[in-house]
Amino acid sequence: MITTRFAPSPTGRLHIGNLRAAVINWLYARQQGGRFLLRLDDTDAARSTQAFAHSIRADLAWADLSADAEVRQSDRFPLYEAALARLVASGRAYPAYETPDELDLKRRLQRAAGKPPLYDRAALALTLDDRAALEAQGRHPHWRFRLDTTAPVEWTDLVRGPTHIDPASLSDPIVRREDGGWLYMLPSVIDDIEMAVTHVIRGEDHVSNSAVQKQMFEALAAPVPAFAHLSLLTSTEGELSKRLGSAGVDALREAGIEPIALVAFLARLGTSEPIEPFVDPAALIASFDFNQMGRATARFDMEELRHLNARTIHLLDYAAVADRLPAAIDAPAWAALRGNLATAADAAQWADILASTIAPPAAPEDADFLTEAAAKLPPEPWDATTWSEWTTALKTTTGRKGRALFHPLRLALTGRETGPEMAALLPLIGRERATARLAAAAAA
Ligand code: GLU
Repeated sequence: MITTRFAPSPTGRLHIGNLRAAVINWLYARQQGGRFLLRLDDTDAARSTQAFAHSIRADLAWADLSADAEVRQSDRFPLYEAALARLVASGRAYPAYETPDELDLKRRLQRAAGKPPLYDRAALALTLDDRAALEAQGRHPHWRFRLDTTAPVEWTDLVRGPTHIDPASLSDPIVRREDGGWLYMLPSVIDDIEMAVTHVIRGEDHVSNSAVQKQMFEALAAPVPAFAHLSLLTSTEGELSKRLGSAGVDALREAGIEPIALVAFLARLGTSEPIEPFVDPAALIASFDFNQMGRATARFDMEELRHLNARTIHLLDYAAVADRLPAAIDAPAWAALRGNLATAADAAQWADILASTIAPPAAPEDADFLTEAAAKLPPEPWDATTWSEWTTALKTTTGRKGRALFHPLRLALTGRETGPEMAALLPLIGRERATARLAAAAAA
């Protein structure tokens, strides 16, 4: 069973970059008939909040990226204690007592000597007596994972291909602080083991973490999951800007971006596949392929997303947007309008035109024509053929054609120069309103 997880920290709102990781995890799990899990990485009690956890869930629900289960790291500390004890027993984790200032001094001396600032493993040389003496002074240990630096760490990344990291270029990571708090690295591995995660899909900024974590999986005698590291995103302004980064999903929603448009956009960004509208997630899921994902930094362009959104709106069924439309826009109205809209909210401006009174602009030069047009309106019921039936009759009786025939009618009936097909709009406006509007324009 394929299992993926999306593991945001509830220390802020979701932004485009981490939503993209959610989308890819979700797509792959759904395509493989597997499980997609949500893990809230809330070990940092000072910065994690319920409100952010709630907003993350709400944003995922809006995007329709439903998780099959959710866990919170703060519920799982006993699991981490037990695993760390195992690593200590097998010599893969050890206590260290240096203060942050002492560590900082070591790093500065190393840099001054032209060496990389790696932890020197001095704590490995401490005897039990040394430790007892340090603890008698009131010092508490933090805990480090001991890397195996004898061979490169290698894996075939689903996005990056063959990947090698030299563990000798890394410091033994601190996994638990002296105050007992857990840092990201080890709990993530313990959870991935316990939740039977088969594919770890996340941003490229985690590549060196993966080298460390691969060793942790092995040290805990667990199978190592497959890794996929997604290229980073930039915006058109260069680096993914603070504005976009912090704007997050809520701002996109307010901009009228449809969830399915955003998901399709993020699914295709940075891939060799075209960015194209989808209204059926199943088609998007079926088309997903890690092999299409590029290694190059992908560019997030808001204009491109808006464009995809409009193309999506043109295809979306009424049911997909009904909850966001004014009551006056029913299914036939939506079908008539959608091809002219960039967002679902744009439909609101047509609600008045279809359902209530508008004041058409005065058209004195067309007064006779409009009066004649009102007189020639066919009896109801009206359908998609009514417009052509009516205007064909008017063409014969008035001798008008082309723009001179159609434009005054559109203007009088909708108050607008342009818009959706009149054939679709006319039955929605109805005979009573049409008559009144034609008369008003003629008289104005
Ligand atoms: N909480 C980590 C992050 O948001 C999770 C990384 C991972 O997927 O393992 O970067």
